[in-house]
Amino acid sequence: MKKQLFNQMEQSEATFAKMAKEIWDNPQIGYEETFAFELQKNFLAEQGFRITTGSGDIATAFVAEWGTGAPIIGFLGEFDALPGFSQRTTATLSPIVEGGPGHGCGHNLLGTAGVEAVVALKNTMEAEKIVGTIRYYGCPAEELLSGKSYMARAGVFDDLDIVYTWHPGTFNMVVHPSMQALTGVEFFFSGRTAHAAGAPHLGRSALDGVEIMNVGSNYLREHVPDGSRIHYQITNGGLAPNIVPDKASVYYFLRGATRDAVDDLLRRLIRVAEGAAHMTETTVRWEIRSGCYDSLPNMTLNNQMYAQWQEIPPIDFTEEEQAYAKALQQSIEPSVLAGANHQLAMMGVDVSQLFTKEPLNIPQLFRQSMPGSSDLGDVSWIAPLGQVTTVCAPHGVQVHTWQATSSFGTSIGMKGMHYAAKTMAGAALDSLLNPEIIVNARAEFDRLRAGKEYICAIPDNVMPPKSVPVKV
Ligand SMILES: [Zn+2]
Repeated sequence: MKKQLFNQMEQSEATFAKMAKEIWDNPQIGYEETFAFELQKNFLAEQGFRITTGSGDIATAFVAEWGTGAPIIGFLGEFDALPGFSQRTTATLSPIVEGGPGHGCGHNLLGTAGVEAVVALKNTMEAEKIVGTIRYYGCPAEELLSGKSYMARAGVFDDLDIVYTWHPGTFNMVVHPSMQALTGVEFFFSGRTAHAAGAPHLGRSALDGVEIMNVGSNYLREHVPDGSRIHYQITNGGLAPNIVPDKASVYYFLRGATRDAVDDLLRRLIRVAEGAAHMTETTVRWEIRSGCYDSLPNMTLNNQMYAQWQEIPPIDFTEEEQAYAKALQQSIEPSVLAGANHQLAMMGVDVSQLFTKEPLNIPQLFRQSMPGSSDLGDVSWIAPLGQVTTVCAPHGVQVHTWQATSSFGTSIGMKGMHYAAKTMAGAALDSLLNPEIIVNARAEFDRLRAGKEYICAIPDNVMPPKSVPVKV
């Protein structure tokens, strides 16, 4: 049955490569992904999936469902692009639109592999009369770290038995490490305007509040748990040097190994902000913009996905693809490449090759915190999550670079995507046929959660941009 599933997927590769390329050709940033939303939603509706749009009150979110009864198996998709990473499929820097968005994180591939997996599964389930429900989640705005959090807050993941996802990368590996929890929070200082030369004593500078807050947070940095991250951007610094600014704002990201650690960092940062307001005789208020969980990996599902790789032939790259990959790798600044290769070598990856094909499963990384955050963390606290990365670019290429946009638009990216789609579909088929996999995954999930219930970290009164009601 597995062979049939994979054979079928090989027949339909061109359809999904076309879908991923069309999304790559039409990159849109978070909450504006109307192109990918329409394309994937309409395609899955034609394939007989039941569609719900507006999940989590987000205009570009949808859920596509097929089948009936238990188990309910989910697949997470993403399709947002990044600002400023427009790039042709060349090995030299060449934006299609200067300063325009591009798929530098490969979400054109990420979502499409999920669509590819559910369509193949649906055909197999129909032919073999397999009972169960499969769902593709079209999740917007991963780069803004909030699409899935809003969807989770609305409860769309609550009845899932298990869930699978993946991410484009430069090696085939199950994702045992845990990503960091994050809170995005913007602080708004208010003071009193005055002529900066004529009557400075009458002014109370909101920008002073921001600057003193930033000094305070840089002192806080020394006294936070290892692995925490504090970064900020001044979003409003006033209007002109000769006006004492009455309004100024600063946007912070706080990251840490656990949700509780980040909540505590936020509590301390608020005290810093209040102290700065006190010193400058200004006032401060804040708005939470995003709040995602650390990811809770599931070894049962990760190992199950790894086992698929014994049944799927490794990705092969043509001479032409190898030549392009070599040129792309040579475009990376040597110290950046050396740093990236060092990191990979520490994980046991053979970086002397352009691509690593050998599947990696490194158990000692289990639950080790790694830098970076994703809103998939929220889902991983609601249902057991299995996750892999696959080779969609040569060694040394970092996501969120023009080289990544380039590679994710080529046949190299597409091959990695098909490999991921087969991995997820094969694992899900096994789970449909062997209920004990789900029982084991859930037992591990309950053990790791240790009684902690998921409560969305975004306050109830904060709504996603461009909110819409749910449509079934
Ligand atoms: Zn990404």
